[in-house]
Amino acid sequence: MTTTPIVPVLPDTQVLQRLDAAHFLHPFTDHKALAEKGVRVMVRGDGIYLWDSEGRKVLDAMSGLWCVNVGYGRTSITQAVARQMETLPFYNSFFNTTTIPAVELAAKLARIAPAGFRHVFYTGSGSEANDTNVRMVRRYWDLLGQPERTVIISRHNAYHGSTMAGASLGGMSGMHVQGGLPIPGIVHINQPSYAEHGVGMTPEEFGVHAASWLEERIRELGPDKVAAFIGEPIQGAGGVIIPPVTYWPEVRRICDKYDILLIADEVITGFGRLGKWFASEQFGIRPDLITFAKGVTSGYVPLGGVLVSDKVAGVIVAGGDFNHGFTYSGHPVACAAALENIRIIEEEKLLEQVAHDTAPYLKARFASLAAHPLVGTAESCGFVAGLNLVRRKAGNVHYQVKFDPGLGVGMICRAHMFDNGVIMRAVGDRMIIAPPLIMTRPQIDELIGLIRLCLDRTLEDLERRGWM
Ligand code: PMP
Repeated sequence: MTTTPIVPVLPDTQVLQRLDAAHFLHPFTDHKALAEKGVRVMVRGDGIYLWDSEGRKVLDAMSGLWCVNVGYGRTSITQAVARQMETLPFYNSFFNTTTIPAVELAAKLARIAPAGFRHVFYTGSGSEANDTNVRMVRRYWDLLGQPERTVIISRHNAYHGSTMAGASLGGMSGMHVQGGLPIPGIVHINQPSYAEHGVGMTPEEFGVHAASWLEERIRELGPDKVAAFIGEPIQGAGGVIIPPVTYWPEVRRICDKYDILLIADEVITGFGRLGKWFASEQFGIRPDLITFAKGVTSGYVPLGGVLVSDKVAGVIVAGGDFNHGFTYSGHPVACAAALENIRIIEEEKLLEQVAHDTAPYLKARFASLAAHPLVGTAESCGFVAGLNLVRRKAGNVHYQVKFDPGLGVGMICRAHMFDNGVIMRAVGDRMIIAPPLIMTRPQIDELIGLIRLCLDRTLEDLERRGWM
């Protein structure tokens, strides 16, 4: 069947921009401002690089949206997807049926998940997976005869998705003010941000202190009302906030003390981003449920899910019908993509490469950016990293002088990055990266060189505006 394309075969950027502005409502976007500027059209990817419709090449230091872990242009994933589409593009897993890739992936995930995780519930996204968590933990407590255990504790500035439950679990105030969130039964404590809350303490002391906010809130609510605590091992969208090493073991101890389930949202940190399959292993989290998405398919097709520990699965399995699921739970094409993606990570030993070679190298190179006059702190963990733009530096993170948030210095810096061929994300005045795991040492050198150049350009720009 032939169809007439809506847009010319050779993309004309202005035509695409007009059509985009006329018809496409984007996520988290001021549409009027975007229409004035004109959207950037991405057309091709290869390895760690992207090209736009004007032929400009950029180094994608954000892996798309924290997801293209094995890089762009993997023909073996394309072929696995095509084979599955030709054989069986879709069948559901509702009515006593399954598909080969969905079963194989479930078994594979059980092998690579932390010990004590042998079950998976599939979804289409990270948000749906966190909605699944809410329903599953409440179902769990109901089956155990404690239906009043419904409250889930999360953290301010967390990101857990954009569905009603996902956005409620998240702690983004800008999201809560739109649409009457959070939904009932979800409360928030402060995030373990040493820069924000750790004044007068060592990072290790602060980690224990930040975990104590959880215990305080559990006592206020009454432990018999609390179902679970949820957190990202490292907060991603909140600005790459790396907690002190003392935080997660203390959180686990508190959850054990009050018999509260612990959910690790590993949508960003899963599938090798920190040099292990899951960050839970690295931080000593020992969660009861693990949310995943993104890196499971390297973003080639959408897939998410919840890894369910034996403790929770035992109760859910014994409990009869769990009335929850999505048309695309266990989509065979997505599962085929995930299987090939995981095979690539194993074959190319990307976990070992990141853990023992490229992440330590990135850590040293990224930390060197702290010498730049605009940079207050620059730190990384595995293949995520963040730096703070500051007006006046100081030896101690708590005494640096920040820019007025209204100036939008982070966005100015982000624009210089894009104009000079590198994608870095701005969260306020914090600039963050999460590069593809395939990045080599020479490519890390290239990245750091580009970031330094763009910091210089940003500094000149701010001086011209008289803001320094
Ligand atoms: N949890 C975390 C930690 C995330 O970073 C994200 C997405 N950035 C989500 C959940 C939501 O995933 P999705 O956008 O696939 O719904």
